[in-house]
Amino acid sequence: MDLFFDQALARRYHSRSQAARVLTETWAKYNMYCPRCGYPRLTHFENNREVADFFCSDCKNEYELKSKNGAIGRRISDGAYETFIQRITSANNPDFLVLSYDLEALRVNNLWVIPKHFFTPSIVEKRKPLRANARRAGWVGCSILFDQVPIQGRIGVIRNGTPVNKDDVMKNVERASHLETSNLNARGWLLDVLNCVNSISKEDFSLVDIYKFENKLKVLHPENNNIQAKIRQQLQVLRDKGFLEFLGRGVYRKKGSL
Ligand SMILES: [Zn+2]
Repeated sequence: MDLFFDQALARRYHSRSQAARVLTETWAKYNMYCPRCGYPRLTHFENNREVADFFCSDCKNEYELKSKNGAIGRRISDGAYETFIQRITSANNPDFLVLSYDLEALRVNNLWVIPKHFFTPSIVEKRKPLRANARRAGWVGCSILFDQVPIQGRIGVIRNGTPVNKDDVMKNVERASHLETSNLNARGWLLDVLNCVNSISKEDFSLVDIYKFENKLKVLHPENNNIQAKIRQQLQVLRDKGFLEFLGRGVYRKKGSL
């Protein structure tokens, strides 16, 4: 995997944003493999397709590339809010490839895969409508809250300029796929509770520890009136999926780390 962009290609563009788009897409096309099946290349979709940028010609999985110059930070801006919510509820939602690069050095710094089933309403921020005097007045955009994606769903492919071993990437993607659920509501609960578990610093924790997140979960799921029961149910799901071990007497142990 070559982390540098094509310098000759970079010289052809005067606009930084146009150059960045071409450089990152070209880079992904020639350097990124399919993290689902390991096929060595991704295929670029036609430019006019909005939803996904790449697909794997072997397993047919689709990927959308999100790129940013410098650090990714907390937020990644995306398109229209309603469109995004529709997309994450549909079955053909793509996995995301989140890439941070250095446009001065013309190289990739970090790359993560976020599998499609990690997208829930909790990680999408609705922005304020554009003002009346804006060209697209009333338009509502959204941002993806990158730091709200559970760590199990932010799978490193390149970390601080060093590629992660491909087998490890694929193993982590495979493990993350165990968190797939049948519908968006179930997905939301599972990943929100997983985020709470992740923010407990101890390896072993009790129901008392996890019940401390009751108010936070109530804000995310105001329709639910029995949050504690829902938490216990989700802990069982995490245990069944191999992310937790139940030690008895309301004590749980985290299993494996990414
Ligand atoms: Zn594939």
